[in-house]
Parts: sequence; structure tokens; C-alpha cells
Amino acid sequence: MTETQTKAKAGAAIIPVTPFQQNCTLLWCDTTRKAVVIDPGGDVPEILAAIEKTNVAVEAIWLTHGHIDHVGGAADLRDALEVEIIGPHRDDQFLLDNVVNSGRSFGIGGVRDVTPDRWLDDGDTVGIGELSFQILHCPGHSPGSVVFFSEAMRFALVGDVLFAGSVGRTDLPGGSHATLIDSITRKLLPLGDDVGFICGHGPGSSFGQERLTNPFLTGQA
Ligand SMILES: [Zn+2]
Ligand SMILES: [Zn+2]
Repeated sequence: MTETQTKAKAGAAIIPVTPFQQNCTLLWCDTTRKAVVIDPGGDVPEILAAIEKTNVAVEAIWLTHGHIDHVGGAADLRDALEVEIIGPHRDDQFLLDNVVNSGRSFGIGGVRDVTPDRWLDDGDTVGIGELSFQILHCPGHSPGSVVFFSEAMRFALVGDVLFAGSVGRTDLPGGSHATLIDSITRKLLPLGDDVGFICGHGPGSSFGQERLTNPFLTGQA
């Protein structure tokens, strides 16, 4: 018996938003042109312009975690597109309830607190068009951080859990460096060296590249 796996085709555009240059990602299914916006931290007019330019139909907003640079524009974008907000894990609710307060401390205005339409948990599945993603709850950077993983595309959206050459900061409320390293080594690296990822800040990488060279994973940090 020969198994044929349909390799779903996808496209992605990164829109750096907020003073933190957060990688808001527009991800779409090539077959259906259905799309999702991941982590609309702010600069909503620029996100809307990117959607129009790409000519895709956004059907949802996905959030990797509750920090202001990832969620500050989520409520405005939801109102503009009339779509649901999905994620992160409920353990980040205290962050989503305090986006405006957080903006005050960072000197960032024009943001809103946000309540997702659906929380995500480890093992959940979300999809857009013909694309399907598994949810991995990866606490450490924040308690409710989630990673979106596509088995078929060997691709993940990791938020601020892991970066090219670094890992997420753990000095913010609810952060834990030991928990973060545990999330990365127990949940992400076993998915395979060939899995590429887009992260919340800076260039993407692959789990294999990070396993071999990231100083926080090799014990050099
Ligand atoms: Zn963060
Ligand atoms: Zn961030």
C-alpha cells in the first residue's frame, strides 16, 4: 500500500509591528486563499493593508501569548474583520486583562484589553483552509504561551518561546527559565530537526539549527 500525503501549500507574510518589531504573521492556504493573522500586536492599518495587498480572506486571529506586542491590536483587528480570536492558553488571561495597563508602563497607547473567543489547550487542533495545526502548550516565557505546529508542512509558529540563537525572556510576570527550557526540550525539539519556524522577533530558524547551535540549548549560555 502506498500512502500519499497531500502536502498543503501555504504562504506567509511578516508584518513587523509595534516599537518591539514583533513579527505579526499573515498566513494563508494557497488552495483556498483563506488566511489567519497571528499576533496582531498593533499597527492595525498596516496589517489591513497587507491583507488587502495579498488578496486573501482572513477568517481568524490566532494569539501565541498575552504580551502587549503580540495582542495590543487584536481587539481592533477583530472589530475590523469580524472574525474570532483563538488562543492563547487560559493561563495568559491575566495578561490579556491588563493590556492597557501594560501599555501605560511601556509608553504605548491605542491598545485594548482583549478576551479571546476560544482558549487553546495542549493537544487541540486549529485549521485554516486545508492547513491544520496542532497546539503545544509551552509555558516559561509566559504561563499561557502556545506553539502552532503543522505536521504536514514541518513548520511551527513559536511566538516568543524560541528565537534564532536565543530563547524568550523570563523576567516578566509568570516567567520561568527552567520551565521554558523544559518546554523547548520536551515539546518542541522532539518534533524534528527539519521543522522550520517563524518566531515573534527577528529571523526564523529550524529546531535542528537551534538544537545544535543555540547557546541556551547547548549549555553554553
Ligand atoms: Zn512575549
Ligand atoms: Zn514579543
